Amino acid sequence: TSALERLSFDNSFARLPGDFYTRLAPEGLPAPRLLAFSPEATALIGLSPECWAQPEAADYFAGNSLLPGSEPLAAVYSGHQFGVWAGQLGDGRAHLLGAVQTPDGPIELQLKGAGQTPYSRRADGRAVLRSSIREFLCSEAMAALGIPTTRALCLVASPLPVRRETMETAAIVTRMAPSFVRFGSFEHWASRDRNEELKTLADYVIDHFRPALRDEPEPYAALLADVARNTAIMIAHWQAIGFMHGVMNTDNMSILGLTLDYGPFGFMEAFDATHICNHSDEQGRYAFHRQPAIAHWNLYALGGALASLVGEHDKIRDLIDGAYIPTYEQKFMQLACAKLGLAMAHESDEDLLRATYSLLQDQRIDHTIFFRALSGLPAQVDEADRSRIDAPLRDHFVDREQGDAWLAQWRARLTLESRSDAERQQAMLATNPAYVLRNWMAEGAIVKARQGDYSEIARVLDCLRQPFTTREGFEDFAKLPPDWANGIEVSCSS
Ligand code: AMP
Ligand code: MG
Ligand code: MG
Repeated sequence: TSALERLSFDNSFARLPGDFYTRLAPEGLPAPRLLAFSPEATALIGLSPECWAQPEAADYFAGNSLLPGSEPLAAVYSGHQFGVWAGQLGDGRAHLLGAVQTPDGPIELQLKGAGQTPYSRRADGRAVLRSSIREFLCSEAMAALGIPTTRALCLVASPLPVRRETMETAAIVTRMAPSFVRFGSFEHWASRDRNEELKTLADYVIDHFRPALRDEPEPYAALLADVARNTAIMIAHWQAIGFMHGVMNTDNMSILGLTLDYGPFGFMEAFDATHICNHSDEQGRYAFHRQPAIAHWNLYALGGALASLVGEHDKIRDLIDGAYIPTYEQKFMQLACAKLGLAMAHESDEDLLRATYSLLQDQRIDHTIFFRALSGLPAQVDEADRSRIDAPLRDHFVDREQGDAWLAQWRARLTLESRSDAERQQAMLATNPAYVLRNWMAEGAIVKARQGDYSEIARVLDCLRQPFTTREGFEDFAKLPPDWANGIEVSCSS
């Protein structure tokens, strides 16, 4: 047997009562081809890259044959979509294979796009190559940026035609996470007054993923607070890096605070706090600046679902507010100050942050380039050399006067710091990436893949695995997007 076949599964989710899921085999894909794998995700489940040389690997991760020990199932959940109760949803195109045991705990493997399930609601159970490439690349890019996320193990494609706005072809991403339980998994049982199942699910999450909460005086209240804190930390990371999820429905919110369900996501380029990355989001519900408030709203939906376990409405609200608001504020402040190279806290920091985001907004400066270029600037500079030395950043100012005034404010603040310039620059370069997954980078990989050339998927992944290290060959990825990138639109279609 091969290393893949020796993976040790233990499927805790499949031990839950049968109403939580439907057991069924994936439909599989014709003529599957392994397009890419993530070396880091491979290592997480104790495998080495050689396992991908096995010719059967594509069949396993296309759902054509079952890995020994896996017990495939599709889970049921419900949720609020765009603020409206949507009723029952569920894994309409995802098959959970089971959890691989690792020294760091169980990691579930899930095939996304392996065919219909009882929760497909007339949809085809498939995922197209385009959106699968995007999810594969972004999952691993986010992980490399240190942002809580589900992972992507590998990407398999097939010539099977799939109808969306146009005809496309099918693919499957194998996702990994300790659990794929969502806020909507709890809303599902609460909406049906099935308090017994609700409790079973809460106990399951606590016992398997948050055992320390068992010792709290009120474990379910503690679970809700824990979810609120982890969600706050995730959202603070999104806002600091400039990530936009695009579809923050409650069925896309992970109970573990992981970025989940990559669809029409985007990374902020020319800064606009009101930017809407999802072309299908006509009202801008999930615009960049609304993400913290939406996550808070989603937590209220989860809190409402947990009422039979936690208590009165006021108690739930206070619990969520008390965990979410300060955690978000502190975490965002910490991340944003680190981006500016500040290691100490000072009362003027909020003013500096406000000025920073006003500058970005007024001048629509590229978010990633701004902080990366800033990372390389010295704390002190002679007036005579200033314009030359500051050029890497100044070149991105439209209004030089506002930009220079901001730089002077930043430098004045740096004089209060005790770190050496070299230390500060090193820390900033390790927190402000040179590379994020810009839409045009994913698009380049998609266009080539459709022509049968998968090398760009590997190249973009290679770049984003080390986002803080400027490397030869990736110069374009650190620059402003090319003009043609303006025409790229991403929507809920996937
Ligand atoms: P999403 O917008 O991707 O979060 O999906 C919302 C719901 O629709 C989930 O229950 C998905 O499983 C389901 N879904 C989305 N696309 C498909 C598809 N092509 N086939 C079956 N179910 C789907
Ligand atoms: Mg069942
Ligand atoms: Mg979803």
